[in-house]
Amino acid sequence: MHPEGVKWVVDLLSRLIQVDTTNPPGNETPAAKLVGEELEGRGLEYRLLESAPNRGSVVAWADSGEPGPSLLLLSHLDVVPANPEEWSVDPFSGAVKDGFVWGRGALDDKLSVAVMLRVFLDFAESKRFRGRLIYAATADEEMGGRAGAGWLVERHPELVRADYVINEGGGFEIPARRSVFLVQTAEKGVYWFKLRFRGAPGHASMPRSGDNALLKAAEAARRLARQPPVDLRPAVRLMLERVLEAQGVPALARRLLTSRPLAGLVPRFSGDAAAMVDAMVRNTLAPTVVRGGEKVNVIPSLCELSVDCRLLPGYGEDWVRGYVSSALAGLSYEMEFIHRDPATESPVGTPLYRAIEAAVRAEVPGALVAPYMSTGGTDSRFFRVAFGSAAYGFVPVRADLPLREMLKMVHGVDERVSIRNVEFCYRTLTRVLEAFYAGLG
Ligand SMILES: [Zn+2]
Repeated sequence: MHPEGVKWVVDLLSRLIQVDTTNPPGNETPAAKLVGEELEGRGLEYRLLESAPNRGSVVAWADSGEPGPSLLLLSHLDVVPANPEEWSVDPFSGAVKDGFVWGRGALDDKLSVAVMLRVFLDFAESKRFRGRLIYAATADEEMGGRAGAGWLVERHPELVRADYVINEGGGFEIPARRSVFLVQTAEKGVYWFKLRFRGAPGHASMPRSGDNALLKAAEAARRLARQPPVDLRPAVRLMLERVLEAQGVPALARRLLTSRPLAGLVPRFSGDAAAMVDAMVRNTLAPTVVRGGEKVNVIPSLCELSVDCRLLPGYGEDWVRGYVSSALAGLSYEMEFIHRDPATESPVGTPLYRAIEAAVRAEVPGALVAPYMSTGGTDSRFFRVAFGSAAYGFVPVRADLPLREMLKMVHGVDERVSIRNVEFCYRTLTRVLEAFYAGLG
């Protein structure tokens, strides 16, 4: 590690937070330039690329000159909006106080932008790597990434093609008797669709006149909300076993719980965790938007229902059509997909995954590492799809604030990261790379 590394990262993180990259509209170029200034004059190659005016991403790379894998350290420059009235500090102040760096992006994801840049410089400048080491801080992740990582993959594949990717989306500690650190190895597919129900108009003073399309949509919403059956994928099962192990549940009980998940498993996870686990063990459908009716005294002849459907790896559009048709048996409807993005998954047990396990064990004795499937998407999906990269969400941070506080911060208010966590993140990612290159033999 660089002797002044933590201070350097804290300083850069604070300055990055001060550049307002709220997306929409993004305006990431000034933040990309800040990163570029740190790369300038070091004899390293980098490019600042814009997918559209002011939508900048920055990519840097170094070649060791000997054969070896390509590893990409990936982060994003944009942030979600922040309402200053709800915050106890100015969300774009980047204030460093009480041992924390405060502001929008302190965790998601400017921490990665700064820490990964330090790690990239450390390894690239000292040539302590093999193959190609790449750094990318991109635009647009918070709005789907198509003007950032997605654009780079499509338009500049030669710059960002990588066998391995370390990205956001995982790395957080679940404190328990033994801590568990989650590595995002998969993300669910996103399939949004609209259902259109037709009826016939009538006068609402006579409810039996006409044919009420709104009632059909209501019935459909009720049936779809029942949810498809459990399908426990191997990576999810491994995660649940690890979390139960960390809680001190004996091996036999763990096997029973995870072989009949609904019998006993979900109640062991309370509150938000129960909803999260439930969404990881099945395909889900959530009716979210309904549009129908024009006038209060007219029976509506048309009603539209939008549904947010999320699919496990291995499922696709055909499954959705089949499931909806059996769930809505007896109702007639038209169906239209408005968004389709398949699930992606990287295997566990690769050299990079093992390096993450080794780094966590070295940093937090007794801690466990578990794969994790997120129900939302990250930029990792572009790399898994385009290059078959083994992409892992792993930005390690310890739970040094209560979980309730942590959950409030991400996309919420008073986002902040402790300087101790900046150090932990930097040290652990450094160990990951050291273990990765050592493991190549
Ligand atoms: Zn993010």
